[in-house]
Amino acid sequence: MRAVIMDAPGTVTVTDREDPQIVEPTDAVIRITAACICGSDLWPYRGAEEADHLLMGHEYVGVVEEVGAAVKTVKPGDFVVGSFVISCGECEICTAGFPGRCVHAEFVHGGIGTQAEKARIPYADGTLVATPGQPDADLIPSLLAASDVLGTGWYAAVTAEAGPGKTIAVVGDGAVGLMGVLAAQQLGAERIILSSRHADRQALGREFGATDIIEERGDAAVARIKELTNGLGAHGTIEAVGTQESMMQALRSTRPGGNLGFVGVQHDVAIPGDELFFSQVRVQGGPAPVRRFLPDLIQRIWDRKINPGRVFDLTLPLEQAAEGYRAMDQRTATKVLLTV
Ligand SMILES: [Zn+2]
Ligand SMILES: [Zn+2]
Repeated sequence: MRAVIMDAPGTVTVTDREDPQIVEPTDAVIRITAACICGSDLWPYRGAEEADHLLMGHEYVGVVEEVGAAVKTVKPGDFVVGSFVISCGECEICTAGFPGRCVHAEFVHGGIGTQAEKARIPYADGTLVATPGQPDADLIPSLLAASDVLGTGWYAAVTAEAGPGKTIAVVGDGAVGLMGVLAAQQLGAERIILSSRHADRQALGREFGATDIIEERGDAAVARIKELTNGLGAHGTIEAVGTQESMMQALRSTRPGGNLGFVGVQHDVAIPGDELFFSQVRVQGGPAPVRRFLPDLIQRIWDRKINPGRVFDLTLPLEQAAEGYRAMDQRTATKVLLTV
């Protein structure tokens, strides 16, 4: 089969790899229909994380080809959406709602890789969810978004306690930040303030439900958000970048007693303990428990209540993955869909 490998930072190739096989009775092998390139793939691409022949890709939808003897909830022929983290669905961490940190958790990126024609998915029951039937072609981008960016934005919005009467601030206008806006809107937030300086992302943010757009960054953004909230700050904040500046902006934008959901993978971030203490903000982050939200998200997409697939602004065949990485790196694309 064909698969995307990151040989070294900045070097992405599409090469032949052996077809995956069932190894454990809880495995499924899926034929991938569509995959995508994630903002988090840019960390190794830019050399901020190690990249030595990584099997790339962790977002995926596809058709089940084969299942192991112990798999109960999906069968060959089913169209499935999977989480970017493998999870068993049965341990105490999974059943408490945090499959992103399952005791058997394994990141799909690196060792499995779904920017490929096929993938072996361990713990198929705890990781995959079948759609109600074979999807129409126009639903595939949205179902693919559910695999990570939508599920991650949703987690951040739930953690920020987005809901009726609430003002939610969103730091980051990449795919996850925009999905956070959509999630906050779906959860009933009254006001959604998005930080963005890109006209196209501002427009999509408004389409997804942002009521206010601010172009300031850092402490200037904090001042602007306070101005918009009677000096108090947002009830909840979604952080979707993962840098020192974005984290401090998010923490300082949140009012005492408020909630911060942070889902940008952290890189060299240090939060001063005294500032965290006096902020009186509840903080939770981590790899999103996408699998917890998948049944609900799939249904909303199936019923055409949400259209998160709008976040993809470039579609390329798998063979042209390197061009997709370049486009994301140079920010000429927000999110790239790879057809397989
Ligand atoms: Zn991702
Ligand atoms: Zn588990």
